[in-house]
Amino acid sequence: MARMYYDEDADLNLLKGKKIAIIGYGSQGHAHALNLRDSGLDVVVGLYEGSKSAERAKQDGLTVLNVDDACEVSDIIMILIPDEKQSKVYKESIEKHLKPGNALVFAHGFNIHFHQIVPPEYVDVFMVAPKGPGHLVRRVFTEGKGVPDLVAVHQNYTGKAFEIALAYAKGIGGTRAGVLETTFKEETETDLFGEQAVLCGGVTELMKAGFETLVDAGYQPEIAYFECIHEMKLIVDLIYEGGFANMRYSISDTAEYGDYLTGKRIITEDTRNEMKQVLNEIQTGEFAKKWLLENAVGRPQFNAIREREANQKLEKVGKELRGMMSWLKKK
Ligand code: NDP
Ligand code: MG
Ligand code: MG
Repeated sequence: MARMYYDEDADLNLLKGKKIAIIGYGSQGHAHALNLRDSGLDVVVGLYEGSKSAERAKQDGLTVLNVDDACEVSDIIMILIPDEKQSKVYKESIEKHLKPGNALVFAHGFNIHFHQIVPPEYVDVFMVAPKGPGHLVRRVFTEGKGVPDLVAVHQNYTGKAFEIALAYAKGIGGTRAGVLETTFKEETETDLFGEQAVLCGGVTELMKAGFETLVDAGYQPEIAYFECIHEMKLIVDLIYEGGFANMRYSISDTAEYGDYLTGKRIITEDTRNEMKQVLNEIQTGEFAKKWLLENAVGRPQFNAIREREANQKLEKVGKELRGMMSWLKKK
């Protein structure tokens, strides 16, 4: 098994007396800033003039500066703004404030791995990437728990980059759950592959195909929604808690038999070959190039697809059904 690092392997003292700038206060930013502060560390938030999240950060009791000033006064700079905006902000407001021995930190390897940000050689460059959404990184921390982190070192100027990364992971609660060492390349490629082929793209298209197959065959859309979409969470929760075997223990033997027989007819050799192709496009930088160009021209394709997806039938059916479930917060 890969070496895991836990609380006792990490020393928060490596961060004591240092100022940490958290650039961005969104999903990850608010979680890192608040968790580090609650771990007794010195945090300042960096945002642009007129930023909406600046108000939230101030209400949460944090010091907010513009990005230039936050970087100027800090020793450790964690970049937590959207990936596609990072290189511009880096060039305009971060790079010139880097001093020898500072640390430049990321929660995802995209901009370093695809050379959108090329830091000077006199800083540490490392990654602390929580393997979970930012809101959970904050919530579970307040419950005394943590979300696992991946840690990677790209540049080790001080000779202490890995130890500082582990200390940072401890500050946000990651070493409570376990920290795994990786590289920027491995994290970037596996993260992009996972979200595209399995977690986001794969799961939503699978649900949609199931829903539409039932609806097209004349079944009630509400039943199709419960069966192909709503129940997914309940099944995944069982896998999360105890693996496939735990899920299969809870379902009926009829469901288990159908599971064994039918799964491979849905995820076929063709699907696996396409997965390899998707991975190849990630590895060669083809996907990164598409995404960067899409942003450079104002996201025409992204916005068109986002609108079409938001207006599809299953979203309307789901909204009505969820509206009847009092325990679900309105989104
Ligand atoms: P968000 O989209 O949630 O972050 C948006 C934040 O960045 C907001 O506070 C926004 O301010 C601020 N911002 C936007 N533009 C600028 C700018 N030009 N200058 C300063 N601040 C700016 O990002 P995420 O938390 O989703 O992602 C951050 C990083 O974490 C990425 O590298 C991502 O890959 C990584 N990551 C994200 C995960 C997640 O859970 N979402 C999981 C693991 C890694 P305002 O709202 O005021 O415009
Ligand atoms: Mg990702
Ligand atoms: Mg069933």
